[in-house]
Amino acid sequence: MTIHSKLPNVGTTIFTVMSQLANTHNALNLSQGFPNFPSDQTLIDLVSKASNNGYNQYAPMPGQLDLLLAIANKYQKLYNASYHPDTEITVTAGATQAIYCIISAFVKPDDEVIIFRPAYDCYEPAINLNGGKTVSVQLSAPDYSVDWDEVQSKVSSKTRMIIINTPHNPSGTIWSESDMKALENLTNNTEIIVLSDEVYEHMVYDDAQHHSLCTFENLKARSFITASFGKTFHNTGWKIGYTCAPSNLMAEFRKVHQFNVFSVHHPSQKGIADYMQDEQTYLNLSSFFQAKRDLFLNLISDSKFKFKPSKGTYFQVLDFSNITDEHDVDFAKRLTKDFKIASIPLSVFNVDGKDDKVLRFCFAKTDETLIKASEILCQIK
Ligand code: PMP
Ligand code: GLN
Repeated sequence: MTIHSKLPNVGTTIFTVMSQLANTHNALNLSQGFPNFPSDQTLIDLVSKASNNGYNQYAPMPGQLDLLLAIANKYQKLYNASYHPDTEITVTAGATQAIYCIISAFVKPDDEVIIFRPAYDCYEPAINLNGGKTVSVQLSAPDYSVDWDEVQSKVSSKTRMIIINTPHNPSGTIWSESDMKALENLTNNTEIIVLSDEVYEHMVYDDAQHHSLCTFENLKARSFITASFGKTFHNTGWKIGYTCAPSNLMAEFRKVHQFNVFSVHHPSQKGIADYMQDEQTYLNLSSFFQAKRDLFLNLISDSKFKFKPSKGTYFQVLDFSNITDEHDVDFAKRLTKDFKIASIPLSVFNVDGKDDKVLRFCFAKTDETLIKASEILCQIK
């Protein structure tokens, strides 16, 4: 049989490749973004309790009601933004499934979707599978700042969607209020839908502010926000997230979602809803992760790596141009095999593999792991 692949250029993701390499070589794994410390026992107990209390059959298609309410309350309190729990929020199997279904619901063959590179890896395959065309805006280390004239020049009558991600994986940068306003101006009076991937919304540092898209009225009216409880509550393996959007957009999303998963793991939804009643469970994340970032950066300040402190996410990019001119993928693999530390090379997320000589390290790790990692990094000359 001849298989005509719908994704001929897609291989195994860099996250799987680097995590496997780390395992093979018994290396510290700071590559794939997941914590190596446990999720809060209180949350685990609440999920068990929900299961013991019978939350074991299909959840309602849009999500368990207490969780929809908890999410709506969060947006009201934190951002003064209103999303109706019945019609404007849907619980999803991680942000990934939300992103896939948002793209599937709106992108038709030959539609164009603008993304900013380096870009998280799940956007482009979903665009391709729906026959769309990815239009890239390449950002550059170390600031990854956006030239809005360039973005404007890439908008055409075919532009159906713009995907943004702040705080930004992999660079650890965040968009300013003026970036969000520029996006608002650019999309005003157009038919463009915005997908705002905000899975790291609760991880911003040095008193910086996360400018959620929902705080810009005109943007909110044309947009989806996606979020991930895996990122927020240190349990990436649970694959629970959600998306918010105005009801007319959400109705289209749910047409796809209901045939894609229908609904997601019921006891986790109830457990997370109960856990979210204490807002400190997510509001203390920035100080928690800032301490980890600071520990890591203080310990590597004398190394040959150059860096600007991450402003958000739990990733830190390190520039290795003082060490070698090797390709970043080769260097990342060599570090894993010879120095026993795994990271993610950024070129794989760029247009034509643009290599800025930077690697991404995940600092969602125990202090012990971060200390070991920094000792290794300081030895690399
Ligand atoms: N978007 C970004 C930017 C991510 O880093 C990730 C990985 N957590 C996702 C989406 C997917 O999130 P989830 O694991 O909840 O599917
Ligand atoms: N979001 C995780 C990261 O950026 C990866 C998740 C995955 O492996 N798909 O590292």
